Amino acid sequence: MTFSLHGQAVSGGIAIGRAHLVSHAILEVAQYQLRERDAAGELVRFDKAVATASAELNALRSEASVPGAPAELSAFVDLHVMILADPTLTDGVRELIRERRCNAEWAMVQQMQLVVDQFDEFEDAYLRERKQDIVQVVERVLRILQGKPRKLAKRKTTTDDDLIVVANDLSPADTIQFKSLKIGGFVTDLGGTTSHTAIVARSLAIPAVVGMQHARPLIQDDDLLIVDGTRGVLIVDPDSGVLAEYRLRKTALELERSKLKRLVTARSRTLDGDDVELHANIELPQDAERAKEVGADGVGLFRTEFLFMNRDELPDEDEQFEAYRSVAKTLGDKLVTIRTLDIGAEKEARALRNRAGNRSAPNPALGLRAIRFCLAEPQLFLAQLRAILRASHYGRIRLLVPMLAHAHEIEQTLALIELAKTQLRESRHKFDDGMQVGGMIEIPAAALTLGPFLRRLDFLSIGTNDLIQYTLAIDRTDGSVAHLYDPLHPAVLKLIAQTIQSAQRVGMPVAVCGEMAGDPKLTKLLLGMGLRQFSMHPAQLLEVKQQIMMADASQLAVRVAKILKLDESDKIGEQVDKL
Ligand code: PEP
Ligand code: MG
Repeated sequence: MTFSLHGQAVSGGIAIGRAHLVSHAILEVAQYQLRERDAAGELVRFDKAVATASAELNALRSEASVPGAPAELSAFVDLHVMILADPTLTDGVRELIRERRCNAEWAMVQQMQLVVDQFDEFEDAYLRERKQDIVQVVERVLRILQGKPRKLAKRKTTTDDDLIVVANDLSPADTIQFKSLKIGGFVTDLGGTTSHTAIVARSLAIPAVVGMQHARPLIQDDDLLIVDGTRGVLIVDPDSGVLAEYRLRKTALELERSKLKRLVTARSRTLDGDDVELHANIELPQDAERAKEVGADGVGLFRTEFLFMNRDELPDEDEQFEAYRSVAKTLGDKLVTIRTLDIGAEKEARALRNRAGNRSAPNPALGLRAIRFCLAEPQLFLAQLRAILRASHYGRIRLLVPMLAHAHEIEQTLALIELAKTQLRESRHKFDDGMQVGGMIEIPAAALTLGPFLRRLDFLSIGTNDLIQYTLAIDRTDGSVAHLYDPLHPAVLKLIAQTIQSAQRVGMPVAVCGEMAGDPKLTKLLLGMGLRQFSMHPAQLLEVKQQIMMADASQLAVRVAKILKLDESDKIGEQVDKL
């Protein structure tokens, strides 16, 4: 019987193939009381299982560090190693085995519940989602205890069909196996768009839908499935008509993608001869390679806060310097835009938890985040500024400051940069004295009062992700208001267009580095506003370049000027589609 399920689309494309179920209700374990004399043996059995799980994770860690593996994965595997090594989980299990004489599996599930309940109390969505990492670590140990080591078997397929993984949830460590097994796509019942699984799916560029809620109980191994990762739809047991249509769409998509590769060396230029710079957004130094592979003009946004996550100790000045220098070296003579620490809100760093900015604030997105946090922690900020300045000696580095709203924040930041330079001169370190400093325009107040930015800074970069969040008062991580998160809201477009025009009037370089820049449906709209610098995930770059090469910039300017006069999103949407 054909039916379809809907979830959150996290990674685009179409996969057609047979279901491969993983995570078989592993948490429903046998529960029994041990005899007193058996407790010691049970403790040994548990410790052995933990040791095996730890060995498995270490093996995965070395796989995650091979060239070509998604950069985020090693960080996730590290997190699982840490959870397993943390006595909060394992000591509690040992106590339940010793004191209450529970069998190891039962003790493990009870202790997991206790820890996970504490995570439910967190207000921060990102932290709440991390409880899934604990569940995944527990599942790993349970599988070993139950003698069911999980390996995704290589199966024979006689057709070109994909293998589609259906899971309650997937750990990043599981996801790394997809590379060598040629998994076509996956769907999970849990996970939001900010979950690690979603991030890994995007970096692997395979179709994926998360948050399906009921997929695993309703689907059986070998069911025929279609995953539409663009629309967030899963079709189970499709009839021949639907199947034929999707096969056609899949082939067309694949053809499109392979054609796109030809554009790597093509000039990013509109039909009427305007050159457009296309830069890459990166999270970790390893991502710089992909930026180069797709022919990016440089790095338009290096989100340095990712260097501070999933670890107990902060990266010191030297470690940061090495990270920034390695990106500069990879990019050679191309521009590298390093954004200073944007920690806070949904982006948490364990090592900073006890500092001012990471206390659980009532409204963390409106709290001490990004530059506000850095100005409250000048020593930490200075260490990063010195590291970036030192790296500037080795490439074309420029510095970008997030979340600025006030003139005095710009002044304070510039004063700290001067102080960092003085310190480096004293310690005889080399740096580029003329390193450019730019500001992100991502708070409506900044977009509405650009004067101080234009007078004091060297360039601007518009962060549409936050600009939309703060203009429309919509939490960008909250699924319940996601339908109101609207990039085409006239207020949002007005702020973007005004910023671009004001910067260009005084000859200041301006880019867009939020998700809007990587959406090919919006490329012509942004071109029509006058934008000539885009920064996006490397996977989106060629599709955007294709749009640029088909665009007539002067004609778009006239049409977009009319669109900007409209004051309803729906009407704007209709006109943008026609561009
Ligand atoms: C933005 O807000 O658009 C942006 C690019 O920064 P981030 O997504 O890291 O907040
Ligand atoms: Mg932002």
